[in-house]
Amino acid sequence: MNNVIEEILVSEKQIAEACKRLGSEITKDYENKDLVLVGLLKGCIPFLSDLAKHIELPLEVQYMIVSSYHGGTASSNEIQIKYDLEVPIKDRDILLVEDIIDTGQTIKAVKKLFETRGAKSIKVVSLLDKKDNNNLKAEYVGFTIPNKFVLGYGLDFQQKYRNLPYIGVLKKEFYDK
Ligand code: 5GP
Ligand code: MG
Ligand code: MG
Repeated sequence: MNNVIEEILVSEKQIAEACKRLGSEITKDYENKDLVLVGLLKGCIPFLSDLAKHIELPLEVQYMIVSSYHGGTASSNEIQIKYDLEVPIKDRDILLVEDIIDTGQTIKAVKKLFETRGAKSIKVVSLLDKKDNNNLKAEYVGFTIPNKFVLGYGLDFQQKYRNLPYIGVLKKEFYDK
């Protein structure tokens, strides 16, 4: 299992502490609001599940599958919706749950979409934020990490390794494969 991991960047214990810290911040900030967690599949699953246990509010959970057109001819602000929300979000308080923000383009495009749908507020919680992302800052961030390809705890390498309980850095020899 671990022969693709260079080093462990964020341990299981550190992840658990971050979920607790972010959960209690969110609990304070969203008291008496109509909170909807919107998880971006598939990477959000472990994080959303652990985080939500620490949000002591009657929240709703919705999911979306989107893909962004990185480096394509389409505008970088465009996304393709592969699976949409089940409910309208007009006048609701949306908290987008992301595993990682790299360029910030995906989350920026989703935020824009939710604005057009009339959400009352739209914020972002991301477990990881890459250091060189100057595009979009999440309101709640677990860890700021170096610009390396990471995997585990929801994040895949070629659709595998999402089940690792920690965040690891991919060994150089596997890059661009
Ligand atoms: P962005 O639009 O912010 O550049 O990146 C969005 C998506 O790219 C993330 O939600 C994630 O699915 C994927 N991604 C970005 N960086 C990494 C990484 O280091 N590892 C993995 N496994 N996925 C990444
Ligand atoms: Mg993601
Ligand atoms: Mg992926």
